[in-house]
Amino acid sequence: MIVRVAIDLSLDRLFDYEVPEGLEGKLAVGQLLSVPFGHREARGFAMEVGEGGTAADKAMAVESGNGERRFSLKPVKAIVDETPFFSPSLLKLVRQIAEYTASPIESVLRAAIPAAVSRPGARSREQVFVEPALAPCEVELTKRQRWLYDNIVRLGGGWMQQLCRELGTTAASLKALGRLGLVSVAARQRRRDPLGSRRILPSKPLRLNDEQSAALKAILSMRPRGEGGPGALLLHGVTGSGKTEVYLQAIAAELEAGRGAIVMVPEIALTPQTVQRFASRFGGCVAVLHSALSDGERYDEWHRIRSGEARVVIGPRSAVFAPVASLGLVVVDEEHETSYKQEETPRYNARDVAVMRGAIEGAKVVLGSATPSLETWANVARGKYAVASMAKRAGMGRLPAVSIVDMEEDRRGAAEGQGGAIFSRRLLDAIGARLDRAEQTMLFLNRRGFSRSVVCGACGHVLACPGCSMAYTYHRADSCCRCHICGGWIPVPEACPACGSKSLSYKGIGTQRAEAALAKMFPRARVLRMDADSTSRKNSHDDILGAFRRHEADILVGTQMIAKGLDFPNVTLVGVINADSSLNMPDFRAGERTYQLLSQVAGRAGRAELPGEVFIQTRDPSSSVIRAAARGDFAAFAKEEMAVRKELGFPPFCHLSAVGMASRDMKLVADWAAMYARSLGKVEGLDVGDATPSAIEKADGWYRWQIVVRAKSVALTVRAWRWICAARPAPKELRAVLDVDAFSLM
Ligand code: ADP
Ligand code: ZN
Ligand code: ZN
Repeated sequence: MIVRVAIDLSLDRLFDYEVPEGLEGKLAVGQLLSVPFGHREARGFAMEVGEGGTAADKAMAVESGNGERRFSLKPVKAIVDETPFFSPSLLKLVRQIAEYTASPIESVLRAAIPAAVSRPGARSREQVFVEPALAPCEVELTKRQRWLYDNIVRLGGGWMQQLCRELGTTAASLKALGRLGLVSVAARQRRRDPLGSRRILPSKPLRLNDEQSAALKAILSMRPRGEGGPGALLLHGVTGSGKTEVYLQAIAAELEAGRGAIVMVPEIALTPQTVQRFASRFGGCVAVLHSALSDGERYDEWHRIRSGEARVVIGPRSAVFAPVASLGLVVVDEEHETSYKQEETPRYNARDVAVMRGAIEGAKVVLGSATPSLETWANVARGKYAVASMAKRAGMGRLPAVSIVDMEEDRRGAAEGQGGAIFSRRLLDAIGARLDRAEQTMLFLNRRGFSRSVVCGACGHVLACPGCSMAYTYHRADSCCRCHICGGWIPVPEACPACGSKSLSYKGIGTQRAEAALAKMFPRARVLRMDADSTSRKNSHDDILGAFRRHEADILVGTQMIAKGLDFPNVTLVGVINADSSLNMPDFRAGERTYQLLSQVAGRAGRAELPGEVFIQTRDPSSSVIRAAARGDFAAFAKEEMAVRKELGFPPFCHLSAVGMASRDMKLVADWAAMYARSLGKVEGLDVGDATPSAIEKADGWYRWQIVVRAKSVALTVRAWRWICAARPAPKELRAVLDVDAFSLM
């Protein structure tokens, strides 16, 4: 017998080994094996097992390059763990992802299994447990020992570490009691529980409203894709419409039927509150896979899932690979979130992987969002996905009143020296009123990213590529504006093409400037700021939010970091300082992102009894994106945005991928980028832009270039890319990767 093994060396190929007689019958696909490799030992996963001696196997052996003749194959050394790490269907999924994303199969395996689980030496933590044994009649005890013993009895025993802490004693003293036979001291497996010892009150299913019942029914009656059912169901529900309660009841039904579930949430929303909602319904059968887990916790959680003890898994994108047996349901909450896309190899989108996994395992897939991605929306329109809508808030709280503030008009009316460029009169008045009433305010300033567009300080006009209707990105090196889709460029003009003013600038208002302006205008206000700079310290994220929740501040100023999933009952005012900065990002998804941001932001105000108010400041009050967001009219937004995408040939009307290249050699990367662009451009069915320096032109001494490729299918792009890499392999000094269905063109 021969086994094909994927070895974790990023060689993008499989290696064949002979299965020694002793292991025949035991060896199975998905197992972790130990094999000889060169002069050392390596670990790898068994991908295929086949009968030896057949012609096909000989061909397989030769093709794999592991030896000219079959008998030269080296034997497998050992099976590291007889229980497979991957089921056959998970292996199938891994292969599909490797194919779809043009990534080495080992890189997908690595993404699919925590290093804490597959690494040599990974194991569960054993801890010492101390338990009362017999009563002390014959034994002479000191007073202190007597006291210790009594307390151990009172507590019914406990973990050594914990007892030492709680009773203020040492391991040596406890062991001394052990030697006297009063207590037993022994190693026991201790499961590390990321929920900690926090007491979780059980929760009962809520009575669903009509919209929720209809959604639940639609989910439960979904037919699997294999039987002609849809690839997924979009649960389109406004913020607070009770999507989570629907997930909970759908999961309960799956558990009842003996099946398991995976719930994916964006990393930033994976808060203790979220986890608690699931844990309080399903108790110990919930496992959490969180990036903040210790290796030990991750190891334990993973094994609880594989053993079937945990049937409901919550986690960020990597949870899509959780080894849940007989998977019945995969939920992707906030399916439009960019954090589902992995920005390193393998560059998969966990939402799409969820749909792939659902198809392979016959599981239902539910994509939940208040503002679905246009890709998903298009799949609904094409009849590939089913949809259920929930337009009402389920619990308390009304949708807030949203007003659009015209900054141009405000500026004309504003007195000088009022900081008019940042805050409108109306917003300032509203903030003042909140301070008087001891209510809280959140202010958003969407200044993220590195790319800078060129904006007219007088009229607000943003320089954009005429062919792609997308903001140009300013490149300082050669002082020009480049389009990151088609590669076209113009020199930075002397004056604004719209109004002739010479006050073109590259900077907008940052959070720090807003914070300073607030301090000046409201000396009595306590202001907190949250952005990438103020949260670089560990826990500072939670510290800031915690302080704001405890009302230790009146105003929280921040980037979109504060927009997601946060629920502050005392916040009654939300201000978006400059909606245009998001709308004018050099990204064809800028309109979509802005709509998402604005509706999320609006969802933050008035969650509890107090009514909320939202102000959106803009210089472009007629923008259909902003107006639709203010009305909460997703369908209108989507209709208009789809028309634009169709017109310009952007996703979801094509697949847009990016080839990213980097080198320390400036000329080398430019030459190769041009060559790759030319070669790709000759392939039929591909629409290839010119090679262009990336928005971040240089990072860590590496010069970066990119090419945008559009095609009807990803497979077409991947095939062309593989062909070119084989025909013109990149030199060692050049890194070149394909990012399929690219999200960020940086
Ligand atoms: P979403 O996930 O759609 O934003 P949530 O699931 O967080 O909405 O629900 C919002 C609020 O409404 C929560 O406080 C939840 O407990 C409450 N809620 C949900 N469903 C119901 C229901 N059927 N009856 C009463 N309250 C509900
Ligand atoms: Zn202008
Ligand atoms: Zn262009």
